[in-house]
Amino acid sequence: MIKLYNTATRKIESFKPLGEVVKIYTCGPTVYNFQHIGNYASYIYWDLLIRTLKLDGYKVKRVLNLTDVGHLVSDGDEGEDKLEKGAAREGKSVYEIADYYIEDYLANYRTLELTWPDVLTRATDFIEEDKQAVDAMTANGYTYETSDGVYFDTTRFAKYADFARLDLAGLQAGARIGFSDEKRNASDFAVWKFIKPGEKHAMRWDYLGRPGYPGWHLECSTIIHKELGEPIDIHTGGIDHIPVHHTNEIAQTYAAYGHELSRYWLHCDFITIDGQKISKSLGNTYVLKDLAERGFSPMDYKMWVLSGHYQGARNFTFESLEAAKNRRQNWRARIALCYQKDVSDELGAFEKILAAVNNNLNSAEAFALVDSSTLSLEDWQKIDELFGLRLIADTPDISEEQYALIKERDSARVAKNFAKSDEIRDTLIAQGVAVKDTTGGGIWEYIN
Ligand code: AMP
Ligand code: ZN
Repeated sequence: MIKLYNTATRKIESFKPLGEVVKIYTCGPTVYNFQHIGNYASYIYWDLLIRTLKLDGYKVKRVLNLTDVGHLVSDGDEGEDKLEKGAAREGKSVYEIADYYIEDYLANYRTLELTWPDVLTRATDFIEEDKQAVDAMTANGYTYETSDGVYFDTTRFAKYADFARLDLAGLQAGARIGFSDEKRNASDFAVWKFIKPGEKHAMRWDYLGRPGYPGWHLECSTIIHKELGEPIDIHTGGIDHIPVHHTNEIAQTYAAYGHELSRYWLHCDFITIDGQKISKSLGNTYVLKDLAERGFSPMDYKMWVLSGHYQGARNFTFESLEAAKNRRQNWRARIALCYQKDVSDELGAFEKILAAVNNNLNSAEAFALVDSSTLSLEDWQKIDELFGLRLIADTPDISEEQYALIKERDSARVAKNFAKSDEIRDTLIAQGVAVKDTTGGGIWEYIN
């Protein structure tokens, strides 16, 4: 049975599904720019969650949403819409911007071999549902209208502060005196924004007799309601989502539909790079392509991510990525050995690895077990299923003669007979096999 840290209770709990199928929702990217490696770390952690649940025997239905409207530059209700900002920056339409960055995101999603969601949604496909949700919240007495939009009155939801342990009095005291808008409480938020005459906002829908667009938080509540039905089992996101975005999702769902939104909430901590926050101004918004240019595959990065824990603040360096890459090569060398001689596994070796991951997704401990256990080819197949690291796919079988040559080359290298090791390398290359050296000996891949 899997145990998970539940943000809602601040405890590690034994997971008990609500029904036959485990319903999971992930707040996906805002598609106005490339997703950096920190963003992908979050999707890698949630991929591990889904793979683990499946290996545990659960049926899973997972929705991943793409935010293509309404997310303002701040998490609150001020500033430009991120999609509009992207369009202005690149001289394209908001729709072109969304399509372009969705395509890039999904291409990376595929190369990372992340489990494909059962339902992939775009926020703009749920505008009618958004309006209905606002209608319902209004009918239930949770909203008020200002000249700027329809706002959620957070004082109407008694549990508003609970999820994020918010200090509402402090928030109110610290708020700017005399809001420029007509918001009643500092924590109130827009469920629908009006577009003022003359305001540039290409994505617009008529509602309440004027053009407007949904508030950012709304899409997740309406999509979950339509595609999964609340309460769902697990809702995932980054720790940045706790105080505003997820707090607001919970409030809206309760106000519109009268239900709890999700039973378990999982949040991953942030990745820093060389000890710094990932930010445009620091020039460290690395994307997967930047890693590839330095010789690291998406799988090397995945290996790096999974070598730590999702709840830990992780610091990325190229040295630690190099270590992850070497570790992956070392594992592949062990797979290569399995092809040549039958390695009989330690009893229950894989079960121990899976048990480590079932303990609140402790992949770091699971990796240490992989390092130290004797594993058969069958175990490695299950390890690939669990972590999706392409260990076997990237380590093809070769002929016995070729294997013997690789071993001969290893010995030549140990004896520092580099003329001989180079000669063997060339022979193998002529046969379409490239050899790479690892601390565990040569490993290989096919070249064409
Ligand atoms: P966004 O497109 O900004 O909504 O971000 C997409 C996802 O990446 C969200 O779940 C964020 O919580 C997550 N995220 C953003 N920055 C980082 C980071 N530095 N490390 C880990 N996750 C992040
Ligand atoms: Zn969300």
